[in-house]
Amino acid sequence: MSTKPFVVLKDVAKRWNGQLGVENISLEIEEGSFVALLGPSGCGKSTSLRLLAGLEIPDEGKVFIDGADVTTSAASDRNLSMVFQSYALFPHLSVAENVIFGLKVRRVPKVERNEKMQRALKITGLEGLEGRKPGELSGGQRQRVALARAIVAGQRLCLMDEPLSNLDAKLRSSVRKDIKKLQRDLGITVVYVTHDQTEAMSMADKVVLMKDGRIQQIGSPNELYSNPENTFVAEFIGAPAMALMDSYLIDGIKNGNKIGIRAENITIVPEGKGRLSCSVTEAEFLGSETLIGLEHEGTTGLNVLQPGLSIVPSGQRIDITFDDQDLHIFNSAGDRINGQ
Ligand code: ADP
Ligand code: MG
Repeated sequence: MSTKPFVVLKDVAKRWNGQLGVENISLEIEEGSFVALLGPSGCGKSTSLRLLAGLEIPDEGKVFIDGADVTTSAASDRNLSMVFQSYALFPHLSVAENVIFGLKVRRVPKVERNEKMQRALKITGLEGLEGRKPGELSGGQRQRVALARAIVAGQRLCLMDEPLSNLDAKLRSSVRKDIKKLQRDLGITVVYVTHDQTEAMSMADKVVLMKDGRIQQIGSPNELYSNPENTFVAEFIGAPAMALMDSYLIDGIKNGNKIGIRAENITIVPEGKGRLSCSVTEAEFLGSETLIGLEHEGTTGLNVLQPGLSIVPSGQRIDITFDDQDLHIFNSAGDRINGQ
């Protein structure tokens, strides 16, 4: 791993007829790392990725790849591969032909082409399916073809935009592992766009959480989970998300603040012994535990976890407590003011 960052976005902005696309995007990516661009729909993830790819040119700022200023370079000159949600496979070409299409265009000799294809098919578990057409494949297999095509390109940088969103939940989690393993085995740098926090948290070395065209926080999954810098991050990261409570509900904290607490830091106590007395909204059985939703004026997203199956009728009163050390304190602007 080099000490200089492999990919750099510096104060990048992109607007459409004066309307915000992305603003103030500054980001450094280490070679060989897996970086997720995460955030709700419309927050600027794809725009950031397209600026990196050379499919858009920024109005402000600079883009560097491997030390070179590529801000205005064409996509084809940036030495990267891309995988999209839509697979973008040619329906009339076989798996093999789809995978080597780019190599053919670049006039790579046939023997080399076939070697690379066989290796990519092996890595992606597609051996034996060379002759099939995309229409004869499952969604997961099609996505693997798109991955194989990116692999044969042999680039050190691969950009992926929501590559799993067409797959069902079970397949998503297995292809997620495949992509992560591939990235590690090949030692490539992946920039991965997703709106799914579970995906970002489980795959990425570094998560870049965006909102309204701006970066909210950059950090490891654990940093974003344990130390959200603002209430947006607190409520976006984690399933369940962090609960927020008005400060007047909690002794010793100044008014006007929001106080965050995670479900795993909340304990149920006998009636009258808690810091808050709540009412149950619903209980959701998750298998190994039950997530019990709680309601109290001045709070949002309060949940408590109970091991195994826990049957609790809605409307039941539950008293809860928590330690001050587990509280996340945010000022009236929503920015974190305790911890680092
Ligand atoms: P995301 O990928 O996070 O869903 P996008 O990067 O696609 O978000 O979009 C960010 C913002 O930029 C949105 O408000 C979107 O409407 C706008 N936008 C993106 N592409 C264009 C375009 N070609 N023309 C006009 N506005 C665009
Ligand atoms: Mg997008």
